[in-house]
Amino acid sequence: MLETEENKLNELEQAHLDFISTVSHELRTPLTSIRGFADTLLSSYDRLTPEQREKFLKIIKEQSNRLINLVENLLTVSKMQSDKELMVFKTVDVKSFIESSVQIIKNQYQTHKYECRYQDNLPKILIDTDKFQQILINLLDNASKYSPENSTVIIDVSQDFTQNTLIIRVKDEGIGISKENIGKIFNKFSRIDSPLTRKIQGNGLGLYITKTLVEKMNGNISVQSSEKGSEFIITFKAANIEDSGLKKLKE
Ligand code: ADP
Repeated sequence: MLETEENKLNELEQAHLDFISTVSHELRTPLTSIRGFADTLLSSYDRLTPEQREKFLKIIKEQSNRLINLVENLLTVSKMQSDKELMVFKTVDVKSFIESSVQIIKNQYQTHKYECRYQDNLPKILIDTDKFQQILINLLDNASKYSPENSTVIIDVSQDFTQNTLIIRVKDEGIGISKENIGKIFNKFSRIDSPLTRKIQGNGLGLYITKTLVEKMNGNISVQSSEKGSEFIITFKAANIEDSGLKKLKE
């Protein structure tokens, strides 16, 4: 075997081992907490006040949700990497998909405000609508969880005529991302460690999944941030007449 090939294999093997070690750690933390609180409830149930029991059960529920999110994200990553993630492309007007994603997030973050702004006569784009909603929900979820209650998340949809693209901006009034961290946030398992983010749950896979899905749909994602908040920008080429024609032929 050539030395360069061997190096590549070693690198792959190392990446694989690192991945297993990170996943094991991510799984162990919530599991340890669930077992600890379940043990305490079982061994000391009568000595605990009703408030303490409720508090421990809430922690068990929260940690179980954290595990479910992690496993769902891991399954998405695994499907994306093995190319089993089939894309079903359609030429669509994105407005209704944006509205339904916002509605889902609104139910989850009832104290936040959401404002959708649409330019007139927006072009259609060629996307997988389920994956598109997953992208939006990830961005809206981050915009909400990394910003204070009662703040506003703006979803701005416009067209760039010179580039022939549709631009979707998700803007929050949250904690922002520092310049030295901005390059890392799209990496697998990348979380920014600060007193502000430590209290917020996550597994560092959302933006990695989001970027991979956007790129699989031939789109582009970027971010701008300051201490006043962050703005994630996704762009997709406007669908042309041939795309719609192709779709009609297939129907
Ligand atoms: P997580 O599950 O940790 O939220 P993501 O991959 O979605 O993982 O995001 C990676 C990291 O990028 C987060 O841990 C957070 O530090 C930072 N981040 C993402 N979105 C925002 C945002 N809107 N405002 C501030 N920080 C953000």
